[in-house]
Amino acid sequence: MRKALLFIWVFIITPIMMAQQQNAAVFYTDSSSYDVKHYTINLRAGNTSMFLAGHTAVYAQVTKNNFNKFFIQLNNALTVDSVIFNNQHCAFKHQNNWIKVYLPYLINENQFFTCTIHYHGEAVSSSGLNGIGLDSVDNCSVFYTLSEPYSALDFFACKQWVTDKADSVNIILTVPAPLKAIANGLLQKVEYSQPNSLTYYWKTNYPIAYYLIGFAIANYTEYSYKFKNESVGDSVLFQNFICTDDDNFNDVKPAIDETINILNVYEKLTGIPYPFYKEKYGHAIMPVGGGMENQTITFLSEFSFELIAHELAHSWFGNLVTCANWNDIWINEGFTTYFSYLAYEKLYPQLAPSWLTSCLNQALRFPDESVFIPDNQIFNERRIFNYQLTYMKGAYLVHMLRNIFQSDSVFFEVISQFLKSYAYSNASTNDFKMVAEQVSGLKLDSFFNQWYYGKGFPVVYFDGKTKHRKLSFSLYQKSSSAENYFTPFAVDIQVKFENGNDTILNVLVDTVPAKYEYWFNDVVKSIIIDPLHRWLIDVKTKLEVDTSDYDSANVFPNPFKNCFWILFPQNFSIKHAQLFTLDGKLILERKTYHPEFQICPPIDTNTAYLLRTNDGITTKTVKLLKLGN
Ligand SMILES: [Zn+2]
Repeated sequence: MRKALLFIWVFIITPIMMAQQQNAAVFYTDSSSYDVKHYTINLRAGNTSMFLAGHTAVYAQVTKNNFNKFFIQLNNALTVDSVIFNNQHCAFKHQNNWIKVYLPYLINENQFFTCTIHYHGEAVSSSGLNGIGLDSVDNCSVFYTLSEPYSALDFFACKQWVTDKADSVNIILTVPAPLKAIANGLLQKVEYSQPNSLTYYWKTNYPIAYYLIGFAIANYTEYSYKFKNESVGDSVLFQNFICTDDDNFNDVKPAIDETINILNVYEKLTGIPYPFYKEKYGHAIMPVGGGMENQTITFLSEFSFELIAHELAHSWFGNLVTCANWNDIWINEGFTTYFSYLAYEKLYPQLAPSWLTSCLNQALRFPDESVFIPDNQIFNERRIFNYQLTYMKGAYLVHMLRNIFQSDSVFFEVISQFLKSYAYSNASTNDFKMVAEQVSGLKLDSFFNQWYYGKGFPVVYFDGKTKHRKLSFSLYQKSSSAENYFTPFAVDIQVKFENGNDTILNVLVDTVPAKYEYWFNDVVKSIIIDPLHRWLIDVKTKLEVDTSDYDSANVFPNPFKNCFWILFPQNFSIKHAQLFTLDGKLILERKTYHPEFQICPPIDTNTAYLLRTNDGITTKTVKLLKLGN
């Protein structure tokens, strides 16, 4: 899912809804005792009101002995007309968005049952953030669903467990002609029915999580074709439903068509063909900012490159492999967001660096929060879909792992193995970690404990001084959150020189300040910490540039290997340097007006020398150490 205008609706969530969800949690145990195999959702609806009428049939297998309570969720705004359990009308209660059916008999483990719930009413969104809705976009009125994470119950009777994927779903929608009703999977047929209605029969045979099931009803224009897909050796249906006139269509057509290029990029990067190729990929316009990755049919508000790329990436992250719990929503959103960056990297590389910088800046917005969603926030939709934490910081962790592996082939092998291992199923962060460790050979406990479960990020303090060719600084890092600690890591420091050249230092950043001193062949102008943005760090840089002359002679490097430099103040005096052995024997002597010169002592067995310098005013003696070969 990708939401626009997040800052506005962030504050809409109602405490009442959260209380209801938490209250509902007590029923989850009872809805865990069966495994949903199939849903048939059969509804009559239109696009002028949110009225729904019809039924949901649930086909499921009992997973524990002595099953005699069937609990399932449906929004209380809808009136339940009847519940038919295995062909028998049953008494039921419908309270707090739960339908509770107490069976007059026991069912044994592994037995199958069908329960059909008939209902009708004016649908109401159960969430301040999403749910079911009716609105206009591009002059067309759209009745749509947006179920992630807990709002599927707004239109069908369902078990809202992310790990219980249905093996197949039929969605049958009867709407006034000539409206189109769009849903998951393949359209089997369209039938005319009275009065002046069309019934659309959609069916998906791929495993699907409840929140990825959806429909949209509008007077859509269809733009569809099949494209040749090399990875599956077959053509795949690409189906788009848009609300637009002919002129606008010409504007959006190139963006829609680009979806196929992005799909090809993702197939190559993941090594996995588009996971739902036997059915379709498509888009339907929805009057809500952002997008929702309903399986095989993304609902979105506009055809922008990044939004298309984000929602398409969900076919692999979120739909093929679904997070095993909402704590680990970054499995859906962090990876997807990073893949939209990879789409830039492959198709528009000139736009990738600025995207990454902006991602980093966003990811640094919450110094006291983790990417992991704590248990006490699991019904807080605002927290689950926090743009800066789940999307941006989540994406940045994927980026960091790519750097930690130090090899794109390892990184993409991890991605590929992860997707293959949990295809059409669910995976937790720990599942991902295990695959990543196995493929890379690295231990990643501290990475995940500090960066994923841990709050905040390191703040790196660089306090430096540069004088001509000398750079000295102190460097350390401190967690932005008092509840976290980051082990030392090595960071690149780019040193830029007056003459336009630059060099990279790789320096360990510890939690205690360490002092460093470097001498260069050129005059230092500026520095950049982590120029390639490899780390999720907040950098506080202070660099004092001292352009005044040296007070006395400087020698570097010390220790030296073959040669060393002497830098004198820029005065007009004659400069004098004498090199002695430790027992006072003069080895070499040099006099010059030139303020900088290099000395390479003759090859001998000495490991230390004394260097006496005189700049015309000051005489200095320093001990020089020579490194062995
Ligand atoms: Zn998303």
